[in-house]
Order: sequence, then structure tokens, then C-alpha cells
Amino acid sequence: MKAAACVCVRSVYIPPDPSIDPPYRKRKSALSSSASTIDPAVARDLLARARQARANAYAPYSRFPVGAALLAADGRVFTGCNVENASYGLGNCAERVAIGKAVSEGAREFAAIAVTGPEDGTACAPCGACRQVLSEFGPDLPVVTPSGNAEGYQLTSMGQLLPGAFGPAALAASQRDR
Ligand SMILES: [Zn+2]
Repeated sequence: MKAAACVCVRSVYIPPDPSIDPPYRKRKSALSSSASTIDPAVARDLLARARQARANAYAPYSRFPVGAALLAADGRVFTGCNVENASYGLGNCAERVAIGKAVSEGAREFAAIAVTGPEDGTACAPCGACRQVLSEFGPDLPVVTPSGNAEGYQLTSMGQLLPGAFGPAALAASQRDR
């Protein structure tokens, strides 16, 4: 029997959908955006990509498909979906699939992430585990989720979702104290 391939480490870069205008390729300022200033076109584009990724979710147990789209500082977009397992605890979230794909492809700086759950008009915040993992690479990363408002999305940041996060600085401080 052929061994199953790990979906987390498959080739990651999804070329831009030609039907979607990639605004971040034209507006470099979007790559340095903060949670309060992210380009709305970038936010909507990432959310659209997260919805596309959600279509691949493997969620037969929770029946809660999630998609994520992570924008790297170099303009690449890495997507992810949740990948569950019959051994429930081994399931992985869309956000951590996306960041694993990104880091394995050499991306470590990120401009924003969009996350969507099953409902297009309902916010879907990253779980605690994903907040910790995302914070490692972007303690102030803008986070886009769906919303029923006029903009079609709502914006928050990792700093708001995980204030006082444990991160590399805490370990460095510990090393200095020894
Ligand atoms: Zn999660």
C-alpha cells in the first residue's frame, strides 16, 4: 500500500487566479500595512483566496471547513485548509497548514492573513494554537475574517487576538539571565 503523502508539505504556491486582480502586486504599500490601514482590495482578495482554499478542506468529523490565505512580504500567497484525522487530535488547522507551507518555501515575513469558516458572512477567528503559531512570525499581523458589514470583512490583528504573547523575545531574555 502506498504511503499517504503529507498534505502539509506539498508544493505550496498557488499562482494567482487570473480572474482576480492581485492588488498587492501593484500597491507595494499594502505589504507594510498595519491592521488599521490594510488596503481593502488586498483584504478582499485574500478572503477570496481563503474561500477557494476552503473548498479543499478535509473536515469529515467537524464538518467545519476552514480556509486561510497568508500574504508573504514578497507578494506570494500561501493558502491552507483544515486537514482532520480519524485520530482527532492530529487534525491541523487551515492557518497552520498555510504557515507551514510558507515557511517551508522560504517565506518568514508576512503582511496579512485571511481566515474564513463555513459561513461567508460570519467571522472565524483563529483558534488559540493558531494564534500562537502565527504570532511567532507576525506578532502584529493583520487578520481578515468575513463579516456581514458593508465591506464584507472585518479586520483585527495578532496583537489584539493574542496580547502579551509568549515569543522569541522571552527565550532570548531567559538566555541572557543565565
Ligand atoms: Zn487553529
